[in-house]
Amino acid sequence: MVKKMVAEIIKEILKIVPKEKISDAVFEGANIVLYTKDPEFLKDDSGVIRNAVGKVKKRIELRPDPSICMEPTRAEKEFAKLIPEEANLGYVHFDPQRSVVVIEAEKPGLVIGKQGETLREIRNQTHWVVQVQRKPPIRSQIIENIRSVLYENSDYRRKFLNKVGERVYNGWLRQKKEEWVRVTYLGAARQVGRSAILLQTPESRVLLDCGMDPSSIDGAYPMLEAPEFKIDELDAIIISHGHLDHVGFLPYLFKFGYKGPVYCTAPTRDIMALIQLDTVKIAVGDGRDPIYTSEEVREVVKHTIVLDYEEVTDVTPDVRLTFYNSGHMLGGAMVHLHIGNGLHNMLYTGDIKYVKTSLLSPAITNFPRLETLMVEGTYGSKDAVVPPIKEQEKHITDMITKTIERKGKVLIPTLGSGRGQEMLVLTQRLIAQKKIPNIPIYIHGMVWDITAIYTAYPEFLNPAIRNQIYHVENNPFLAENVTRVGSNKEKQQIVESDEPCLILATSGMLVGGASVEYLKSLCEQEKNTLIFSSYQAEGSLGRRIMMGERTISFPNGTNAPDVYHIKMEVSKFDISGHADRKELMSFISHCNPKPKKVIINHGERSRLIDLASSVHKSFRVETVVPQNLDAVRIR
Ligand SMILES: [Zn+2]
Repeated sequence: MVKKMVAEIIKEILKIVPKEKISDAVFEGANIVLYTKDPEFLKDDSGVIRNAVGKVKKRIELRPDPSICMEPTRAEKEFAKLIPEEANLGYVHFDPQRSVVVIEAEKPGLVIGKQGETLREIRNQTHWVVQVQRKPPIRSQIIENIRSVLYENSDYRRKFLNKVGERVYNGWLRQKKEEWVRVTYLGAARQVGRSAILLQTPESRVLLDCGMDPSSIDGAYPMLEAPEFKIDELDAIIISHGHLDHVGFLPYLFKFGYKGPVYCTAPTRDIMALIQLDTVKIAVGDGRDPIYTSEEVREVVKHTIVLDYEEVTDVTPDVRLTFYNSGHMLGGAMVHLHIGNGLHNMLYTGDIKYVKTSLLSPAITNFPRLETLMVEGTYGSKDAVVPPIKEQEKHITDMITKTIERKGKVLIPTLGSGRGQEMLVLTQRLIAQKKIPNIPIYIHGMVWDITAIYTAYPEFLNPAIRNQIYHVENNPFLAENVTRVGSNKEKQQIVESDEPCLILATSGMLVGGASVEYLKSLCEQEKNTLIFSSYQAEGSLGRRIMMGERTISFPNGTNAPDVYHIKMEVSKFDISGHADRKELMSFISHCNPKPKKVIINHGERSRLIDLASSVHKSFRVETVVPQNLDAVRIR
């Protein structure tokens, strides 16, 4: 019994798929799901579904009608017969309204079977459709919380996803006159921070990223007061990656009534929820009113639609989205938009890295079509070149070796996500190559939570590290020398022991967090070493120490602040998650096809202008360096 209001596309499909076999037809985002009560049709549809896919060029899935699903306890017994024990199952979650069962397994491949054989067998015998999830080798509270938010709201999600599909397929809302595409900068133009770019066509309103600028007081948030931005007209939000300057403001939109989809990769969903919750926590800890609460972070999770790299989906009737690996952090994506029916193709890079790192593959440069490239320029100026990785590795090897020889400890303040894990994997590799002795590595606070998320999504990492994670005994994150530090007591034991070790703790710029506490305990001993691993913003304690300040003080509520003298060795390791000048030029020159227009954002003004002029000279393409509130017509 298909519902009364039927989108044209479903009518189209039901001309090919026999109507009498179909009990319901719904959307799950841009995917179309047909339900059937006929087990024989489910087993063998004689190719009609494939024919329908060929005709409408959309993803169509045939599922058993919920009324014919096997009773869950019995079904679980069947799973046990059909799935080999070595798969090592975790939890099993039934979603009876969608006939879907989520099964967590240590070895997902064994649940799937050769070419999906086992999945098919389960579907035919129990009339449940299995979705397999990898059981993270490190238990993570945040991943578990996110999954339970999704499960607890499965009824809401079903309706929400259907509504998203209706928006995509039920034609044009606004009168179509001329075709055009424009983007408006609500942030991140000529600055690093508060990335938020509004894409408009006559039909669609799509927001790319929604970040904040934590180092700014007046301009911390995107300029939503721009006349173009109307929250109730917004169709979709697309998130490139889980850094605060790209996602920090997103929950705020839900506070003000946004109820539409948020597209991102699965790791980005998990990482952004974690750092948004952390933002709430930090505000509360500082005695400030947080601009949103954990309730709004929950709303974000409830409205996410996750996509894999290179999975194509329609987000509105005239905008089609594909994510590509950006090389910047786990789950980080470049956003490719196919706009209108072949009218225009745009790539928004978000943040990119264009060399292979310890964890990630470099950003992709091949696209089906490309006319406008919107690229970041954080390190766009000629002088922004980092030393080659090999040189840097040699430097860190020497620093660690020297410190161990004098029985000191190495403190590496790090960002929670990305840098911390790169540092961990790098030092593990140096140990494996016997370039440094096998010393304990302590991981404090949020770095650990993010590390757990990294191990849960090995398919997003580069092939070498992915294979190591698949084999528990080689997993660098699970090695015996790696310990999570949870309590202050444990921290105290570490700083008081005589044993040389490596400590990774947030924040990366020594602005609050565990890294500052370790610094206080370790800074007055010459045998210890402090290694900066990330960008140090103007005014931060990290920047001041890097520039040579050696006496530092912390207020303690009395007239005499606590004073510390820094006697430990201070050094830095330049492994930026951003492409430097050379990488940016190389990335642009490798883009295939060659873009006709290059828009440069996300960087200090002079750096962006420097990059734009070089791009123009070298590649003979039009370049634009917009300011905030500028709208650029791209077609
Ligand atoms: Zn970033």
